[in-house]
Amino acid sequence: MSKYQMMKQIEDSVKNCKKCDLYKTRKKIVFGEGLINTDVFFIGEAPGKKEDQQGKPFVGRAGKLLDELLDSIGLKRGEIFISNIIKCRPPKNRNPLRSEIKACKYYLEKQIEIIKPKIIIPLGNFASSFVFDKYDLKKSKISNISGKVFRQKNIDLIPIYHPAAAIYDPNKKSVLLNDFKVIKKQLKKIK
Ligand code: URA
Ligand code: SF4
Repeated sequence: MSKYQMMKQIEDSVKNCKKCDLYKTRKKIVFGEGLINTDVFFIGEAPGKKEDQQGKPFVGRAGKLLDELLDSIGLKRGEIFISNIIKCRPPKNRNPLRSEIKACKYYLEKQIEIIKPKIIIPLGNFASSFVFDKYDLKKSKISNISGKVFRQKNIDLIPIYHPAAAIYDPNKKSVLLNDFKVIKKQLKKIK
């Protein structure tokens, strides 16, 4: 089976998924999208309202900022893959529950297994915790680890702030702009 077929199979399972209660309130699943043959995998938190309506990741305000950040280092959406820890929107954009993450993380793990990225970039606390847990690193708050490169099992993990946190906070935005320079540098190294 090709990578594309494997990915399609996982997507079909997500479309039919009822492993947590979020299936009851979702409009559309947000599976994630981008290049399957990429080195770079961004992990967000959960779909918001716009994402739930359109079935695509990061199409709302946080997505606009993400596009700006990608653009600042000459990266395009079509060159990376983006998904979230959970694939259905939590009502009123509340934080994902531990039980929801537990139920859903299988899909993200499969996506990572298929893509085999060289760099994983978790956005914000929830995605960073997921990634640190997966790669056996000691959990730490995003403010302590943002923009640092953690090399683990031949994967570089670069946790950064969630772009949603920077919408009203120019300081976080400049931190993010700097952290994207770190990403750019790391990309050059692995080429
Ligand atoms: N925030 C996220 O974490 N993911 C999205 O897809 C959109 C906003
Ligand atoms: Fe299934 Fe994940 Fe959606 Fe819950 S959030 S219903 S586990 S796809």
